[in-house]
Amino acid sequence: MTNMTSTATTGTEQTTTPRHFDVIIIGTGSGNFIPNPAYHPVSIALIEEARFGGTCLNVGCIPTKMFVLAADAARNIREAARLGVHGTFDSVDLKQIQQRVFEKRVDPIADAGEAYRRGPKTPNIEVFDRHASFVGPRAIRTGQGEREEIITADNIILAAGSRAFIPPVVEESGVRYYTNKDIMRIEELPHEMIILGGGYIATEFAHVFSSFGVKVHVIVRSGAMLRGSDESISARFTEVASRDWDVHLNTTVTALSESDGTVTATLSDGTTLDADALLVATGRVPNGDRMNLAAGGVEMHADGRVKVDEFGRTTAEGVWALGDVSSPYQLKHIANHEAKVVFHNVLNQDNLRKFNHNYVPSAVFSHPQVGQVGMTEAEARAWAQANGTSITVKIQNIGDVAYGWALEDTDGFAKLIADRSTGRLLGAHFIGEQAATLVQQCIQMMNFDMDVREVVTGQHWIHPALPEVIENAILGLEFD
Ligand SMILES: Cc1cc2nc3c(=O)[nH]c(=O)nc-3n(C[C@H](O)[C@H](O)[C@H](O)COP(=O)(O)OP(=O)(O)OC[C@H]3O[C@@H](n4cnc5c(N)ncnc54)[C@H](O)[C@@H]3O)c2cc1C
Repeated sequence: MTNMTSTATTGTEQTTTPRHFDVIIIGTGSGNFIPNPAYHPVSIALIEEARFGGTCLNVGCIPTKMFVLAADAARNIREAARLGVHGTFDSVDLKQIQQRVFEKRVDPIADAGEAYRRGPKTPNIEVFDRHASFVGPRAIRTGQGEREEIITADNIILAAGSRAFIPPVVEESGVRYYTNKDIMRIEELPHEMIILGGGYIATEFAHVFSSFGVKVHVIVRSGAMLRGSDESISARFTEVASRDWDVHLNTTVTALSESDGTVTATLSDGTTLDADALLVATGRVPNGDRMNLAAGGVEMHADGRVKVDEFGRTTAEGVWALGDVSSPYQLKHIANHEAKVVFHNVLNQDNLRKFNHNYVPSAVFSHPQVGQVGMTEAEARAWAQANGTSITVKIQNIGDVAYGWALEDTDGFAKLIADRSTGRLLGAHFIGEQAATLVQQCIQMMNFDMDVREVVTGQHWIHPALPEVIENAILGLEFD
C-alpha cells in the first residue's frame, strides 16, 4: 500500500501534485466503520463535513430512541392509574432530556470518535473536515479548516448518507421549519406542532412530542400512516395513533406563512392550522447529488441513489458506495452490513463479497411500536400467484395470549404470512408492545430457512412471555 506523503498545499489554489491515499472515505457514519487491523497499513483520508459520527449517532437512531424512552415514561405515568397506580404527569424538563441525550451521551461519543481518528492510535488516517466533491476520476476536492486541497486515491468509498427532503412548498415559503437535525435541540417545547409526513421519522417524533404534552397535527399525503408497511399494520397504526394526534390523511399543505412565531399551514381541504413549530419529515434524499459525481464517472439512479452492483462497486472504477447514499434501504443495520462488505471488497478485489439484502427487517419506535420483515400480505399474494403456490395468513391478537391479556392490550397483533406448502415464513409483522424485539425470532426463521411447523413444536415457549404470540400465530396457520 502507498505511503502517505505530506506534499504541502497552500491557499485555495493547489499548485502541487495532489496527495495520494490508498483509500478516501467520504462520510463518517458507517464510513467510519473501518475494520481493524486489516486497514492498519492502508493510508486513509476520512472526510466529514458535519459532526463526526454521521446521522444515526448524532441526529437519527440513537438520540430519537433516547427521546422515545422519555416519551414512553411520560405516557406510562399518565396511564398508570388504570393499573391502580396513582401519580401525576407534571411536566417535561426538556433541558434535562437534551443534556442526558446530547451533552452526556451522544456528543462525547462523537467528539471521542473524531479525536481517536485524528490521534496517534490511527496514524494511517488523516481527517478532513470540508465538503468533498469530485474534480475528476478518483480525485476529490476537500480540505481541512481554511486549507482547500485536492486529493486522489486508488479507491474511494462513498458513505455520504442522506438528508431530509424539504418539499418546495416549505422551501419556497421561507417559514422557520425543523428537521431531525435540529428538532431535538429546540430551545423550548412548542404548544402545538405541525408534522409533515406519515413515515417512521414523522410518527416517532409525533409520539415523542405528543407524549411531552405538545398538541401534534400530522399531515399525511396518503390515506394511511406507515404506508410502506403491511396494510393491516398501517391501518391499525393509523387508527391507534389518530386517538392521540390530530391526523389529516389524504392531505397536503398548499401554503405556509409565519407571523410572530406562529406558522400557519393552509391544507388542501381549504382549512388552516396554526402552530408554533413546523417539523418536516417527508422522506430522505441521498447526498450523491451534492458531490459532482459526473466528474468522477459515478452514475446515479433516477431516484438519486448512487448506482452500485451487488459488491458495492459504482460505475466508476475504484469507486465504491454504501449506506443511504446508494442503498435501497435507508436503515442503519443495512448501512453497517454494506460497510462490512465494501471494506472487505476494497482490500480483497479478487475475492469479492456480495450484499445480503434478503429479509431486511425494520422497526418503528412510535406508539404503538412496529416490527416487520419480509413481504406484506399484498406482496405475498402477488408472489404466490406468480409462483403457482398459495399462502396462509394468521393475525394473532396480543391480548389473546397470557402476557398480552395481563397488559389488557386491545390494539396489538402479530400477522404471520407463510407458504402453505413449504411452511416457510414469507412475512412477519408486529404492532404493539415489544414489536421491534418480537420480530427478531421471525427474522431468524426466514434467514435460516426454517419450517415454522418445526419451529413451533421444536422448542419451549416461555410462559407467560410475549413470544407466545408467535407460537399461537404459527399454530393458527393452515398448511396443505
Ligand atoms: C430521525 C432518524 C431516525 C432514524 N432511526 C433509525 C432507526 O431507528 N433504525 C435504523 O435502522 N435507521 C434509522 N435511521 C436511518 C439511519 O440513521 C441511516 O440509515 C444511517 O445513519 C445511514 O448511514 P450512512 O453511513 O449511510 O450515512 P450517515 O450516517 O448519514 O453518514 C453520512 C455522513 O457523510 C457526511 N457527508 C455527506 N456528504 C458529504 C460530503 N460531500 N463531504 C463530506 N461529508 C459528507 C454527512 O455529514 C454524514 O455525517 C434514522 C434516521 C433518521 C433521520
